[in-house]
Amino acid sequence: MDAIRENLQRIRDRIRNACGRADRDPGSVRLIAVSKTVAPERIRQAAAVGLNVFGENYVQEALGKMDSLGDLNLEWHFIGHLQTNKVRQAVPHFHWIQTVDRVKLAREIDRRAEALGKSMPVLLQVHLGGEETKAGVDPEDLPDLFEEVSRMSCLEVRGLMTLPPYLEDPEEVRPYFRQLRRLLEVLRDRASEPERLTELSMGMSHDFEVAIEEGATMVRVGTALFGPRLS
Ligand SMILES: *Cc1c(COP(=O)(O)O)cnc(C)c1O
Repeated sequence: MDAIRENLQRIRDRIRNACGRADRDPGSVRLIAVSKTVAPERIRQAAAVGLNVFGENYVQEALGKMDSLGDLNLEWHFIGHLQTNKVRQAVPHFHWIQTVDRVKLAREIDRRAEALGKSMPVLLQVHLGGEETKAGVDPEDLPDLFEEVSRMSCLEVRGLMTLPPYLEDPEEVRPYFRQLRRLLEVLRDRASEPERLTELSMGMSHDFEVAIEEGATMVRVGTALFGPRLS
């Protein structure tokens, strides 16, 4: 509990300092606690010290945790690779889906959300170089994906997300963050409601300060908060 509290304090200091350098309001950056592989008891401890937004990568794992934490008022973001056949289980329980990268997936989310009478906020995941992950839409295909998804009545596209290659020096990641921001600006120029398109989910434990300097509105932080993952 104390470790999480101290880690959180350090992260908030880092966020505040990065916002200071970028002349931004720290309230404009949402901290998403990435809780994959983290046991529900530790998520409960994180909630007790003030965190209420969590990111999970695997539907099955997440549903189990949500069940045991159902008495808390938490917001859950899906940040992993989403298989179309898992959408039915994910849509009722997640508040955001950050990893929409293909029309087929978007259609399925839209269909399931409609059946539940809900509207699902989503981010489009963009693939920016690096071979570590193939997930994400290529930048040149982003405008078409955006056009298609924008027409779906139960999806709300709120912005972009990326998982850039892991580079030791966070400064080397900066061009990727900058590119995502530019891509969002291009979409806003062609959007019918640009004021709805505000989110940039980018930056993890070792590089979120640079992401904030480049405009991140959501940072996804796991190890800096919970410590190293065992797997
Ligand atoms: C695991 C993960 C994170 C958190 O990474 P850390 O380096 O532990 O902060 C962020 N985003 C995604 C998509 C992840 O899978």
